[in-house]
Amino acid sequence: MEAISLSFQDTILQSQGYFGPYGGCFVPEVLLPNLAAIAAAFEDIKTDADFLAELHQTLQDFSGRPTAFTPLPTLSTQIGGAQLFLKNEGLNHTGAHKINHCIGQALLAKRLGKKRIIAETGAGQHGYATAAVCARLGLDCTVYMGRIDYERQRPNVYWMELLGAKVVPVEDGSQTLNDAVIAAFKDWVAHPEETYYLLGSAVGPHPYPAMNTYFQKIVGEEIREQCIATTGRLPDACIACVGGGSNAMGMFFDFLDEADVQLIGVEAGGRGEKPGEHAAKLRQGKVGVFEGYHSYFLQDQVGNIASTHSVSAGLDYCGVSPILAFLGDEGRVQFEVASDEEALAAVQALARAEGIIPALESAHAFAHAFKMAAQMPKDAIIVVNASGRGEKDLFITMRHFQEESLKTYARKLLND
Ligand SMILES: *Cc1c(COP(=O)(O)O)cnc(C)c1O
Repeated sequence: MEAISLSFQDTILQSQGYFGPYGGCFVPEVLLPNLAAIAAAFEDIKTDADFLAELHQTLQDFSGRPTAFTPLPTLSTQIGGAQLFLKNEGLNHTGAHKINHCIGQALLAKRLGKKRIIAETGAGQHGYATAAVCARLGLDCTVYMGRIDYERQRPNVYWMELLGAKVVPVEDGSQTLNDAVIAAFKDWVAHPEETYYLLGSAVGPHPYPAMNTYFQKIVGEEIREQCIATTGRLPDACIACVGGGSNAMGMFFDFLDEADVQLIGVEAGGRGEKPGEHAAKLRQGKVGVFEGYHSYFLQDQVGNIASTHSVSAGLDYCGVSPILAFLGDEGRVQFEVASDEEALAAVQALARAEGIIPALESAHAFAHAFKMAAQMPKDAIIVVNASGRGEKDLFITMRHFQEESLKTYARKLLND
């Protein structure tokens, strides 16, 4: 029999959960029927015209798609190399690309007859998007959050509660994201019948990595159309930041089989290369199984999950999509890092030159794009995924750029 060579797109969409050696479905026995039902529903909806029509209508009416494709002429001239463009996912409802896979999964949960949604969140952005979609679709919503995150992300806790979600602080372990994931899995094991676990990135057990990639691929599809309409051709390079990998996969998917489009994922270099100072799992992680899937994770000498650091909460995660791990091994996606300092500088550059304040996560992609543009000819085209907007980072960027006014503000708050 002749070997059939699948395109990257087909490999991902037809996968039964493995992407090369990565992926899988490592969950407690009691959840397997649930995951099988989700995988079957995911298969069905790909060819269900009614579902897809409702999905696209909701993305349009509720989230505001299509998002803008914006030339960056001033920065391009200042840098003096490639022409830069951004895809503004920050214009989505709730401020980032996350709502794309939240809408998709919530509609799928409804189709499965689930009335109760659980989710976990670190910085609160995924919880916020989930709570908004659940309110819109009339679904009960519970969000788990480590106690420390719960305290330090008060604004997002408040938004979730205003939207009717129940936010549960988790007191176990280090009281951050991984503990919230464990709490969410425990809840799911205890209530498998009525509950849908709404996952926040292209990670986790099968079918979540492929499914969230599918719900995010609209980003790249719009870029293709908008880039051709604006420039007459496809980009030479697409650049996205990598936390779990959902905005990167959303941007890259449509271009995976276009060999001339370079795809670059940028990880959080943090403040150094030592363990605990960054979140660069594809650079420095080791292969392992955690949170239901096989991929690269930041680990210590004996294989425990290592601590991570990034100035951007959304990149501050120990694992990465098994699909990106596979595409990295295949040489289809190249991975780079940008540091905290470089990301902060990129926020300021984009704000000053183009009037757009990107999320700190997205700023990592911009930092690399600026370096790369300088090395490329003037007719080259680089598109950067602005995965989110920067308002949520107020207290971090303000501490960096306007320490004094932040102190005055805090003093005033305390005195009032
Ligand atoms: C959560 C988040 C990310 C990181 O998640 P991915 O799954 O890697 O996309 C990136 N940017 C923003 C704005 C986020 O909120």
